[in-house]
Amino acid sequence: MAERAVDVVRLLMKQGHMAKITDLIDADTAQLIAEELGHTVRRVAESDVEEGLFDAADDEGELASRPPVVTIMGHVDHGKTSLLDAIRSTNVVGGEAGGITQHIGAYQVTSPSGSKITFIDTPGHAAFSAMRARGAKVTDIVVLVVAADDGVMPQTIEAISHAKAAKVPMIVAINKIDKPDAKPERVRTELLQYEVQVESMGGEVLDVEVSATKRTNLDKLLETIGLQAELLDLKANPDRPAEGTVVEAKLDRGRGTVATILVQRGTLRTGDIVVAGAEWGRVRALLSDTGTTVDAAGPSTPVEILGFNATPEAGDRLAVVANEARAREVTDYRAHQKREKQAARATAMRGSLEQMMNQLKTQGRKDFALVIKADVQGSSEAIVGSLEKLGNEEVGARVLHAGVGGITESDVTLAAASGAVILGFNVRANKEARAAAERAGIEIRYYNIIYDLIDDVKKAMSGMLAPTLRETTLGTAQILEIFKVSKVGNVAGCRVTDGTVERGQHVRLIRDNVVIHEGKLATLRRVKDDVKEVQAGQECGMSFENYQDMRVGDLIECYRVESIERSL
Ligand code: GDP
Repeated sequence: MAERAVDVVRLLMKQGHMAKITDLIDADTAQLIAEELGHTVRRVAESDVEEGLFDAADDEGELASRPPVVTIMGHVDHGKTSLLDAIRSTNVVGGEAGGITQHIGAYQVTSPSGSKITFIDTPGHAAFSAMRARGAKVTDIVVLVVAADDGVMPQTIEAISHAKAAKVPMIVAINKIDKPDAKPERVRTELLQYEVQVESMGGEVLDVEVSATKRTNLDKLLETIGLQAELLDLKANPDRPAEGTVVEAKLDRGRGTVATILVQRGTLRTGDIVVAGAEWGRVRALLSDTGTTVDAAGPSTPVEILGFNATPEAGDRLAVVANEARAREVTDYRAHQKREKQAARATAMRGSLEQMMNQLKTQGRKDFALVIKADVQGSSEAIVGSLEKLGNEEVGARVLHAGVGGITESDVTLAAASGAVILGFNVRANKEARAAAERAGIEIRYYNIIYDLIDDVKKAMSGMLAPTLRETTLGTAQILEIFKVSKVGNVAGCRVTDGTVERGQHVRLIRDNVVIHEGKLATLRRVKDDVKEVQAGQECGMSFENYQDMRVGDLIECYRVESIERSL
């Protein structure tokens, strides 16, 4: 403002403030003085850097129709995954070739009438209020899957509440109608209890009887979704900088950060500078849901983005910004915010630790300290979300750390410091971490179903720990070469690196610390002979039951499942 400091000090004195030139004054006083000096003041906040990032309005005339975004919800085992798979594979067979095994968290299909539909493929398990709530945020339509032989179950009801809370219309897919004990009418009646009235019951909710395994009525389901979408009259402006949401993000060894984005308005192009959460990047490449490179992605299109500097979190909103400076400005501010929040939480935790000790003394409150590692951000969040809901005044779960990737030595150190248990979801501990855990007496448990994980913690907390199946690692082997053998299929030539490998036992295929496959060992051979077991240091040939896609460099973990007492 080019005012002299002495003038400011004089004015302050007039107001009764005895201030020195180096003193700090608060914002209100500063405003007063500045106005006194004849300047116009506009108060700004740090958070103003976020301004204009999202939700700039579009003119009605710029809007064009966009495909609906659909999330499938329902009780566990009612067929969410099967239905998604069936829809996707039918469509791929009928349309473009290849690429169906790739999991990208969202994909687009073409309905029989030619219109496009986008599906969000959140992990198909039910314990995920968090994830589903997220799904619903980007979702236009919820398909509620209810198995005709099982009827309305707890997670069906949860899904209904979520869809209602998000004010998202529902379509009921009554699945498994191929089963002899299927009772679709019963499903319709049961739904009435939860204020879901299908058309034949005098309501407005559309319903379709389907079979995911027999692929019955899948076209009809797609048509119904199309119909519902027409009613919603979904529109977005494709000609503007893109905005979207992160569906999933992971760190890929070869490609760096890979984020699956659902574009919601505008068009995303390679070369765009994007921010999501506290991360930013220049879009190096865009990959469609079939794995092909594309130059641009319009509204309702799911794409994978390469080029983020670090992994954003699932559910983060993404926006294109004008330049790198702007991107840095926004992400610096957010990173700062995030750090402050974490610091606040850490202090709160210390406080509660003291409280906890008191509680422990007075009421005997127990805490289950846990360290969670998962293969993708979404799973980790879902697990933490569900765990936080467990517990009462007497017991509770305390998540010390939740992250993405293999279990490392530092996870073990953290767990050891607080006597925590480490839970790995679709990830494994590396060798150093395993050794450290053994030294420190820390338990590492592996899961591939979130529900099982939650259930185990719950049971441990309720002191209901019954003897159960528990696995013991027998040994690991590394794949050196893959042979094709007629009739048998692919055989992995391996060296056993530690322990032993036994025929007929359970095996797990691990690539970059992530579990690719679980199953049983079909054959185990040394040279040409079938053997019962192979010791560390020796080479052998292994083939899996019903699985072929092993690769050189993969690790094979062999383990035994036995029934023993549990503790957590
Ligand atoms: P999710 O937990 O909801 O994802 O359920 P899944 O898709 O994993 O399906 C659970 C089980 O139900 C699997 O064993 C499927 O094979 C079976 N299933 C799914 N859809 C059908 C169907 O339409 N008919 C029959 N008979 N079985 C089905």
